[in-house]
Amino acid sequence: MRVAVIGAGVVGASIAYRLQAGGAQVTLIDAAGPAEETTARSSAWLNGNDKPPLHYQQLNADGIEAHRRLGRDLGTAQWLHESGCVMFEAEQAMPVHGVGPDRLADRVARLAASGYHAELIDRAQARELEPTVDFSRAATLAWFARECWADGPLLVRTLVEAGEARGMVTRFHTVVYSLQSETSGATMILLPVEPSRGAWPRARAGESAVDAMGDERFHGEGELWAFDRVVVAAGRFTDRVAARAGVRVPLAPTYGLLAATTPFADRPRRVVYCPNVHFRPEPGGGLLLQDDSLDLTVGAATPESPPPPGCEELLARARAYVPALADASIASAHIGTRPMPADGYPIVGNAGCPKWLTIAVTHSGMTLGPLLGELVSREVLSGAPEERLAPYRLTRFAAAGVGRGSQRDG
Ligand SMILES: Cc1cc2nc3c(=O)[nH]c(=O)nc-3n(C[C@H](O)[C@H](O)[C@H](O)COP(=O)(O)OP(=O)(O)OC[C@H]3O[C@@H](n4cnc5c(N)ncnc54)[C@H](O)[C@@H]3O)c2cc1C
Repeated sequence: MRVAVIGAGVVGASIAYRLQAGGAQVTLIDAAGPAEETTARSSAWLNGNDKPPLHYQQLNADGIEAHRRLGRDLGTAQWLHESGCVMFEAEQAMPVHGVGPDRLADRVARLAASGYHAELIDRAQARELEPTVDFSRAATLAWFARECWADGPLLVRTLVEAGEARGMVTRFHTVVYSLQSETSGATMILLPVEPSRGAWPRARAGESAVDAMGDERFHGEGELWAFDRVVVAAGRFTDRVAARAGVRVPLAPTYGLLAATTPFADRPRRVVYCPNVHFRPEPGGGLLLQDDSLDLTVGAATPESPPPPGCEELLARARAYVPALADASIASAHIGTRPMPADGYPIVGNAGCPKWLTIAVTHSGMTLGPLLGELVSREVLSGAPEERLAPYRLTRFAAAGVGRGSQRDG
């Protein structure tokens, strides 16, 4: 079976690797290099931390386990940081990750009752887990032992290398310009992109890869390729790529601001959620800072360099909890576009019509990528619908009254 996977972010690379390992002949195509889009601009906190309804929370919890399974299969899991997560509410009323005062305890009780690893801890335990953070203002503290963070670009590079070692074909700096149904399967026109024309642009929400780049960025002749199956995992561009096959995928992308600090000594080792900022270690020795409250200060036209003012605000907030950050400054900003489905939940699985087309687009893709790799590859290879994907099929949008889901990260 010849399968094209469009998009070499965490979702597409995970699916492509599992398909190739399962016996398909896969071509992985990306308009940029591997993991140069949202996957490189993510908090990448792996969690199922309060993601209702229960089937979605469990999908995310199993998503973390799928990272571990993938690591065992590949014989390496260097992208996976088994950090756990400490979360706390302050004595004063300050929201933490969408949770109001006195509600962290409720959340922990709810999660623990569903079998998720969640427990309340005291300040002494928190200090033992993370001695670099000042927990003195914490009123309630929680510990999520099985949560992790991931180095997304390293994960994607690992998957691409493992796929290539098994015979997977990769076409980077190549845009999928058209998608056409044939009697059996599909054809597509691939156009090379000139990498020297600058970095892959961050387009406006909903703007397509093709629109964003402008025709002048394409060079050389288009090539016509034929496939039996096509998986569109083009992140925030999935709607536009699918539209070329006449399929509507409702997305509502949003922007997120991340600030990376310079390296410093005695940095925290875990994911830590404080009342108005959260952070995790960043490869290279600094911390990656984020808070949803600052996301609205950035948009499609905001340059990443120089870092926007929200970065200094994030640093000031984090210094209140991490004294050693006094020695650090802002190294860089990342502005990511969340490939957010219109109702907040993944759109994954066979699109029904045309039969050769599978869609895979989701927020929380860092958590879910390896699991979606397992589920989607099984469905494509067997041709039988995956039970677990039933709540996430595109067909749900055929019903009236599509709402808008949670936009918070993770
Ligand atoms: C600020 C922020 C914080 C986040 N925090 C978390 C978190 O804590 N935990 C979590 O699990 N998730 C988090 N996410 C979400 C997560 O990062 C994304 O869901 C995930 O990275 C999406 O991966 P992807 O592979 O779908 O998309 P991408 O990484 O964007 O990859 C899609 C690829 O498709 C390619 N492409 C597009 N159009 C074409 C075309 N026509 N032809 C060829 N190639 C094309 C692009 O070049 C791109 O490389 C966060 C996101 C943001 C922005």
